[in-house]
Amino acid sequence: MHLYNDNPTLLDVPHQQMKEEQQGEVFFKNYPQQVEDPSGKHFYIESYGCQMNFSDSEIVASILAEVGFKPTRSLELADLILVNTCSIREKAEETVRKRLRVFDAMKRQRPGTLVGVLGCMAERLKSKFLEEERLVDLVVGPDAYRDLPKLVATAEDGDKGINVFLSREETYADISPLRLDSNGVSAFISIMRGCDNMCSFCVVPFTRGRERSRDAFSILAEAQELYERGYKEVTLLGQNVDSYKWTNPETENLVNFAHLLEMVALVAPDLRVRFSTSHPKDITNEVLHTIAKYPNICKYIHLPVQSGNSNVLERMNRTYDREWYMERIEAVRQIIPECAISSDIIAGFCGETEEEHQDTLSMIEFADYSMSYMFFYSERPGTLAARKYPDDITLEVKKRRLQEIINLQSQVSYGHNQRDIGKVFEVLIEGDSRKSDQDFCGRNTQNKMIVFPKVAGYKPGQYINVLVKAASSATLIGEAAI
Ligand code: SF4
Repeated sequence: MHLYNDNPTLLDVPHQQMKEEQQGEVFFKNYPQQVEDPSGKHFYIESYGCQMNFSDSEIVASILAEVGFKPTRSLELADLILVNTCSIREKAEETVRKRLRVFDAMKRQRPGTLVGVLGCMAERLKSKFLEEERLVDLVVGPDAYRDLPKLVATAEDGDKGINVFLSREETYADISPLRLDSNGVSAFISIMRGCDNMCSFCVVPFTRGRERSRDAFSILAEAQELYERGYKEVTLLGQNVDSYKWTNPETENLVNFAHLLEMVALVAPDLRVRFSTSHPKDITNEVLHTIAKYPNICKYIHLPVQSGNSNVLERMNRTYDREWYMERIEAVRQIIPECAISSDIIAGFCGETEEEHQDTLSMIEFADYSMSYMFFYSERPGTLAARKYPDDITLEVKKRRLQEIINLQSQVSYGHNQRDIGKVFEVLIEGDSRKSDQDFCGRNTQNKMIVFPKVAGYKPGQYINVLVKAASSATLIGEAAI
């Protein structure tokens, strides 16, 4: 999973995101929108990293609500301050440590306030976190959130609470997430946890454990419940959704990702279905044909390439090469011609030559990505790459190559959006545009953000046809075509 939504201002949730810069770390303050009731115990939670972390924070909120905690936006009101962390790059961890300094000050002002660290950094550092960060009272890994109430009680008694056990079963399937920061239009549904791939640069297999798929009927029930509550879009989440597989214990029928997509698409024709993240080695034509078959399965695929060169891909242990990836892109074009594709790209991986870097640039042009998440390589302790390869590309070269990738991608995105001028798209209204409350914003099936003047009688959660009049590399500008 790599789909980072990177705007450090608050209240940014992927379904309202405006993609800004690539190096930023994600920062979500997760709270329901209603007026806060100051009585009782309150928790405050910030989420960093990928959509999976955001979805996990909604599971955490539900578990805490079960034992009487209420969410709060105000640090001052919080009895429990939680930070759901990311460990994918050094910078992500630095950001968390900076936030812990702020929480330190809160604890000094309000003794008895508890601070807890959740997510991948908690799992990576384990008890070392308690040694390094004296103010931290709780360290809880991604598979141990059910234990939170007990750990909080332990910390309230003055001891440190820690549980970083990684499970082979846990999917939190029976926990109904408490929707945080929701616009009431789009929601995440986590369909699996962990990752069995061992990409050499990645910490996820060490911080989120082995792959396990959630009961398909619990996913369906969650989609149905969201639809009945007025949501019009669900995003199915997994580190590698294409390897989803669940066996029905009664019938012994196997449900793979194509089957699951179809099951969710059949909940209602006006419930949009998105998913993230795909893996080039596992995305099948069966999945592509299922996307093509159902109008409400969005015509957008996030297909991380990481590098455009086969030798680099081999050192990354991505288990596919340049030719295999290009064949998958061609398959998407043949089966779903109108589909937009985005990617993840790492610049300056161990041993990357100038020629190998040029292959990544030419891949961006070949794949014609609508957008990409682009970072330079950040060595992560304990990963295969850290053990096997020297981090031998200088920071200066990494930054220069990354800038070349960003410049090219922004040209390609601009071209991609320019070709949409004059077209009419069905847009799901998500809310007010960030720049003007006179405008609505929403996305088309290709996951492109479109901003257009408000139309009387329309509101978030409704579909409207929009004619595209202008475009930047990040946003389409239009007017209602009704
Ligand atoms: S190991 Fe590979 S596929 Fe799995 S989360 Fe990391 S980068 Fe993605």
